[in-house]
Amino acid sequence: MALHSIKPAQDLTEDIYDDPISVAHLSKFIMPATSTPPHVIAQMITDELMLDGNAKQNFATFCSTWLEPEIHQLMDLCIDKNMIDKDEYPQTAELEARCVHMLAALWNNPKAGTTLGCSTTGSSEAAMLGGLAMKWRWRKAREAAGLNAQKPNLVCGPVQICWHKFARYFDVELREMQLEGNEVGMNPDKLQQYVDENTIGVVATLGVTYTCVYEPVKAICETLDQIQKARGWDIPVHVDGASGGFVAPFVQPEIEWDFRLERVKSINASGHKFGLAPLGVGWVVWRSKEELPEELIFTVDYLGGNMPTFTLNFSRPGGQIVSQYFLLLRLGFEGYRKIHQSCMNTAQWMAKEIAGMGPFELFYDGKGGLPALSYTLKQGDHGFSLYDLSDRLRMRGWQIASYPLPERRQHTVIQRIMVRHGLSKDLASLLIRDIKSALAFFKNTPASRPSFSHG
Ligand SMILES: *Cc1c(COP(=O)(O)O)cnc(C)c1O
Repeated sequence: MALHSIKPAQDLTEDIYDDPISVAHLSKFIMPATSTPPHVIAQMITDELMLDGNAKQNFATFCSTWLEPEIHQLMDLCIDKNMIDKDEYPQTAELEARCVHMLAALWNNPKAGTTLGCSTTGSSEAAMLGGLAMKWRWRKAREAAGLNAQKPNLVCGPVQICWHKFARYFDVELREMQLEGNEVGMNPDKLQQYVDENTIGVVATLGVTYTCVYEPVKAICETLDQIQKARGWDIPVHVDGASGGFVAPFVQPEIEWDFRLERVKSINASGHKFGLAPLGVGWVVWRSKEELPEELIFTVDYLGGNMPTFTLNFSRPGGQIVSQYFLLLRLGFEGYRKIHQSCMNTAQWMAKEIAGMGPFELFYDGKGGLPALSYTLKQGDHGFSLYDLSDRLRMRGWQIASYPLPERRQHTVIQRIMVRHGLSKDLASLLIRDIKSALAFFKNTPASRPSFSHG
């Protein structure tokens, strides 16, 4: 007898785990023929999701894993809003524009009140838009001068994968500077070997994914000034501030990396990283309207008028944008500064603790770049590798990435801990304690043995 077909769905005497759905397997390949009470299936799916890692213990991610209750409420309120329908949801559209201007001002844009920018699903989409604008500007200038515009290239340091995608999808040669010696990001001295008349732009990363350091945007711009003097090529800079764009203005205001530098024409950042918004929002802002080629802009109806839009997607949720606006107002400059400063402090404290344990050598001590730390294993046999340590910590739910640096420095394996809003000093001290007990464990029970051992 199919109990749920004769019982009302919300029968309080019913037990979810006694339901016929619960005593079978959930469908995995073919959609079931009939419907199921929502509370039963939702419970089954909730149980499956338990197998995901606990996001708050995920120190590999740069993304928000803790959000204030008001954000949950705003997200719920906005669940039915489509941000592309500017005419139907004009207020959401206005909040998006307010965010763009506030970010332009935060990044010291002299035309912050009038310049163009937009929200995206994240920095990846923002990078596509920033890259496209560079490609279009370069091509227009080449064609206007009667020059060949067939072979665009983009120059960068060790970039996030989105720039590889941009290059492949939009047919641009990516000239990625390889790390050599002790380099942790782009070396401006090597720029001359990489740029030429076909360079559509240079991407500088504020917060390199692998090493968490800021690339020297000012020195990069100065080198490009010299190159322009010598060769005549006026090469723009786009800053990938996915993480750093929301960190540096608050805790490292003295670093000049933004629109204060004339050559910086556009900047992207991820709202859902250190912008503290829920997943699904990024930003890109141009120096002025003129930097964004008209041909890339589409207009949509907006309160009976037209509104310029520049996006790869069409329909997209509005809640993340509204949440970003909420955060900018709710925290204000001082709020963001305090949160990120305390993350910096926690990262530096953890770095000291890690350094004091013995087997580790700090690679990044949490100073001068993103709130994070990374370390390598000192030379010698410790009875474990960083990968073994990641596995061991995973037993307590901690997720800590171990990975090799990019090409040419790939012999260096590092372990990185991102410190984000919501990682309290207390939680950090529990993680440190667990790392210490993992070391004690490996001392008695080595995980990896040297290859000559027959153990
Ligand atoms: C995370 C990251 C990206 C990609 O951003 P998403 O918001 O995840 O799309 C691009 N560049 C850098 C430097 C990043 O850290």
